[in-house]
Amino acid sequence: MTRRRIVLFGGSFDPVHRGHTEVAKAAIEQIHAEKLIFIPAKCSPLKRLSPHASDEDRLNMVTLATADDAEFAVSDCELTRPAPSYTLDTVRLFQRQYGPDTTIHWLLGADNVKDLVYWHKIEELIDECNLTTMQRAGYAPPDFDRFELLWGEPRVVKLKQNVVQTPLVDVSSTEVRRRLTSHEDVVGMLHPDVIQYIGEHRLYQ
Ligand code: ATP
Repeated sequence: MTRRRIVLFGGSFDPVHRGHTEVAKAAIEQIHAEKLIFIPAKCSPLKRLSPHASDEDRLNMVTLATADDAEFAVSDCELTRPAPSYTLDTVRLFQRQYGPDTTIHWLLGADNVKDLVYWHKIEELIDECNLTTMQRAGYAPPDFDRFELLWGEPRVVKLKQNVVQTPLVDVSSTEVRRRLTSHEDVVGMLHPDVIQYIGEHRLYQ
């Protein structure tokens, strides 16, 4: 029997942009997944300087940006549980929910690979799900060989097997926020409903 495949896509989504939704769409196809769930991460208000959006606004924007696509879903599980919120806990939550016949993929951009060493219980995370990496415009292709001494060859082989070829979409939330604060155009970078939401709620000013 073919196993079900579910993709989890965590991030700040501050705000969610066309880069997120385009690569997510391509990842679903590459992975042959049945569904991709956007999971906005909790952001400490103390950690980040203004202008950034609240948890509620980020969740609302992700909901708007993904509403047109039946393969997309959104979960507030990381926003509603007490901190600290770890990826491994989220993976285990969905694995319990979907059962042992489902493979869980956790999607991340190549820009995040260098930080994997700091992730909570990274070796268990690599073992328990398919940590799936996408290329990202402006970043080198992921290099996992440097982790071989730390995590062992089988884990590195697994990471390399889980690289997906998604389109290079040169958009980042940082650039979107920069443009919004300096009143520059963001048409084409964001879903039209997200642009409207940002305007109505006077975000990123
Ligand atoms: P910021 O500019 O604030 O750092 P971001 O644009 O990287 O934000 P995040 O919400 O932090 O967006 O990203 C969530 C996940 O999506 C991360 O794994 C990131 O690598 C990936 N990602 C974001 N934008 C792209 C893109 N254009 N192409 C591929 N992956 C992306």
